[in-house]
Amino acid sequence: LSGKFGDIFERLRRRGALSESDVNDALREIRLALLDADVALPVVKDFVAKVREQAVGAEVLRSVTPGQMVVKIVNDALIEALGGMTVPLNLNAPAPLPILMVGLQGSGKTTTSGKIALRLKTRERRKVLLASLDTQRPAAQLQLEQLAQRAEVTSLPIIAGQPPLQIANRAMDTARRESYDVVILDTAGRLSIDLALMEEVKAIRAAVNPVETLLVVDAMTGQDAVTTATAFNEAVNITGIVLTRLDGDARGGAALSMRSVTGAPIKLIGQGEKLDALDEFNPERIAGRILGMGDIVGLVEKAAETIDKVEAEKLAKKMAKGKFDLEDYAAQLRQISKMGSLSGILGLLPGIGKMKQQIENANLDQTVFKRHIAIINSMTPGERRAPDIMKASRKKRVAAGSGTSVQDVNKLLKQFDDMATMMKRMNKMGGPEAMMRQMQ
Ligand code: GDP
Ligand code: MG
Repeated sequence: LSGKFGDIFERLRRRGALSESDVNDALREIRLALLDADVALPVVKDFVAKVREQAVGAEVLRSVTPGQMVVKIVNDALIEALGGMTVPLNLNAPAPLPILMVGLQGSGKTTTSGKIALRLKTRERRKVLLASLDTQRPAAQLQLEQLAQRAEVTSLPIIAGQPPLQIANRAMDTARRESYDVVILDTAGRLSIDLALMEEVKAIRAAVNPVETLLVVDAMTGQDAVTTATAFNEAVNITGIVLTRLDGDARGGAALSMRSVTGAPIKLIGQGEKLDALDEFNPERIAGRILGMGDIVGLVEKAAETIDKVEAEKLAKKMAKGKFDLEDYAAQLRQISKMGSLSGILGLLPGIGKMKQQIENANLDQTVFKRHIAIINSMTPGERRAPDIMKASRKKRVAAGSGTSVQDVNKLLKQFDDMATMMKRMNKMGGPEAMMRQMQ
């Protein structure tokens, strides 16, 4: 596939805005990649249509090919469609807080119940009670009991012959009486959606009123994902999804299908049979996996880097003309904050390497950047363009406005001054552009 993508990039070398045919060519391949990753067909159609709308007419940034631009747009849209960020389990409710596990047989409900119990015990210091409502399979309740022992949490004593709804009520009663924080209710599943199962789960849900109703889904689920998700969501209104078996070959397309159909966030992923193989869902990582290949993600990253480089070049030109001001500095800080690391744009700017080193040595962190941005935001446009006019009274006003101190304002101005000095020195050496050419 990477070869195919390569071809497209070759064909799409023109500059300017993305045309409809540029986008269609690239999206044809993206569509195949999504289907390959087991994203359900209607979801693929929807997603591709949305991306097409965003992409056509989008400006292609300098030093980025149109093909790379489409991939960047697709990747961003995919992350967005997967929820954009990690959503944790909702634990904000009075104890005992019920969590209901639902899903098809073999999806990993029982295993995940044990995993969540261990996680809540060790990370959140919650007192957890596990209860199996699975009276379908003879060994199911024993299976959960054994998992509970391994996780060193309590499981509700088994009473042979008690129906699921009564077990659920008994679990909640026990939890109230013995002050448990969380009760995880593991339910029975069927091989496919059936009415009796749905009625049973509905009744249990109505009885215990769970704070989380988690749909557990095998990542290998392909086109069926939509049917499963719709059925469970209509019956019990799921609040979150757990995707299991992501340790295997599955590309994780089910994540996109499930999320699109239910709108419920994917909260956790299972990555193995062991009890500690449970992780938070990371949309960026899954997006990379769904698009399939590291080389595509690499291309996207390279494209993003190139975009940063274009910004850096613009900045460098401003510097050469002596027009770099606090406004530009704030823009730069925002970019660094966005990238979450110092090795970003500063490293791309010629002559700034040394300052980057200084900043790293000074062990400054994001809070310093945020403080600097706040200070600059509190300045007037005139002050940002000509920081020299910042005298005592202005400094006081800006410090008060940004919730910092005059000392902080002074530090920022000093740092900006150092930068300006460095730039003057750079210009004497033929300007940043000459230096950039030498570096390449
Ligand atoms: P249930 O029928 O939904 O309760 O499913 P189980 O929890 O009994 O799991 C069925 C099988 O899948 C078991 O053999 C589990 O060990 C296995 N399993 C569950 N989650 C994962 C996972 O994240 N990765 C792998 N490799 N196996 C898993
Ligand atoms: Mg089970």
